Amino acid sequence: MLSSLAHRALERAGLGEVRDRVLEGKRITEEEALRLFRCPDLAALGALANHVREARHGDRTFYNRNVHLNFTNVCVASCKFCSFARPDDRQASEGYTMPLEESVQSVLRRKGSGITEVHIVNGLHPDLPWSHYVDVVRKLRQGWPELAIKAYTAVEIHFFAEKFGKSYEQVLRELLDAGLTTLPGGGAEIFASRVRRKICDDKATAEQWLEVHRVAHRLGIKSNTTMLYGTIETLEERVDHMARLRALQDETGGFQVFIPLAFHPEHNMIGKAFPKPTGFDGLRTYAVARLFLDNFDHLKAYWVMIGERLAQTALSFGVDDLDGTVLEERIYHMAGAQTPQGLTEAGLHRLIRSAGRVPVERDSLYHVLRLHGPEGAAGAPRAATA
Ligand code: SF4
Repeated sequence: MLSSLAHRALERAGLGEVRDRVLEGKRITEEEALRLFRCPDLAALGALANHVREARHGDRTFYNRNVHLNFTNVCVASCKFCSFARPDDRQASEGYTMPLEESVQSVLRRKGSGITEVHIVNGLHPDLPWSHYVDVVRKLRQGWPELAIKAYTAVEIHFFAEKFGKSYEQVLRELLDAGLTTLPGGGAEIFASRVRRKICDDKATAEQWLEVHRVAHRLGIKSNTTMLYGTIETLEERVDHMARLRALQDETGGFQVFIPLAFHPEHNMIGKAFPKPTGFDGLRTYAVARLFLDNFDHLKAYWVMIGERLAQTALSFGVDDLDGTVLEERIYHMAGAQTPQGLTEAGLHRLIRSAGRVPVERDSLYHVLRLHGPEGAAGAPRAATA
């Protein structure tokens, strides 16, 4: 229920009509999303987003138990916001490439720990053969049959297709045959060509990123989406980004979750020019995303990037997913993230419960694995439900 206070505050901010459209379950336009972004009353905006969140999910807050694998940070691209990539794997440049067996064992050694997903993302290595990427997936699938393998961003899939002379479909089919489960959502950044030309002009274009996901969805592979905010993009360009995702979701229905990613300014080429986005900006971005992306089930706050406190607050601004335990994360810690290297499940529960929400462990496809009741009363495992 939207409080009468929030009702009036939105009216005062000139957003009465938008509020009514949302409450009637109608889709809002790009122009309306832009007006929401400019709403000075963050609490009222959050209350509207929270209304939609609770209508969809109640108090449920999703997380999973996952580990990251970034087996190389060597990359031929030169994205200006990136703190992870290195031009080669010499020790002096902090570049690295893990041998195949080491990569696989770093995940397999966690078997029996309750982890249900590995998230694999890398730099665009100039020399690794195609077999390396497929074998990582195949060996993980053979060694841990029930593990969900979320691997390779659309930027990597595009790179493989170009480098190894394959279509997107061939690349994805070979990975599927090896044991791939889903695609992560990284590499989307901001779709507007003005921004991409300036911050990431030598990797997959917006159209190529979207086409990889379109093909994946056609093959039955679910995927995630992201948006990097806080560099040079305008609010109009953020809305344009979300509008393109919403349009593809209308077409395919294959996206599971939208994940706004805050720019991290340390150890990259543009960090001095742009400070870290504020908490206000983060919260309004979650809220607008929840209201605009009416065909997305889930909205995730990636706690590694924005910190546990803001992620927890975001649970009242439309967010229903906090990612997971995230063991072995490298990408944002190399960009200066001060968050811990992984959270325990109990730590995640504490964050969720103290925000008045109910922790729900999910798998990679958002099936409910375990619904946790009040503190100390973990619910029984439930049959998977969508
Ligand atoms: S963001 Fe990805 S593609 Fe761009 S430089 Fe970093 S690792 Fe390479």
